[in-house]
Amino acid sequence: MISGEYAARIAQLAFDNDADAITLPGVFGTMVFARSPLRPCAGFQIRSTMDFALVGHELVHALQINRITGARFLAQYLAEYGYNITIGMAPKAAYECISFEVEAFAFQHALEQIMARGNNKALFAGACCDLDLNSPFTNSGRNPTKALADEFAAEFKKQLAIAQLKCKAAVPPSTTIRILQMIRRITE
Ligand SMILES: [Zn+2]
Repeated sequence: MISGEYAARIAQLAFDNDADAITLPGVFGTMVFARSPLRPCAGFQIRSTMDFALVGHELVHALQINRITGARFLAQYLAEYGYNITIGMAPKAAYECISFEVEAFAFQHALEQIMARGNNKALFAGACCDLDLNSPFTNSGRNPTKALADEFAAEFKKQLAIAQLKCKAAVPPSTTIRILQMIRRITE
């Protein structure tokens, strides 16, 4: 687990390398750092779709950290990045193809996509900015409907598939062949 001061230094390093936000497991809980303050909502309206989707991305990481513990998250995150570099991916693809990032980016892109359609932005604001705090699982009147949740789930699945295809394509073919040859040699 990382202390607050150390986490802030890692976050600065990430911002220097073009990240807009980063989520880290900390001693006192999961911490989200952003390059500039995120303001997804203004009152009950979505103020910035991009900020909203980025918050979604970081919350996916927070759930991942809860799912497998912070220490394992960090170890696996760095190991996957290292592996991707080793097999010849460019640094940007190596980062985007870490399995945690594939999931988080798919979530982020799905949010951007469906909020650009029809009345979805207002419906989303109803669901996410206007929750009834006494009963958080029913919102206060402007029900976003099951259809919106279904549309999001379908878009998320689609974005996951797109990301996985991109990551397959990001592996140089020679590397793929080399690894297949290695596997064959080991299994023969
Ligand atoms: Zn991320």
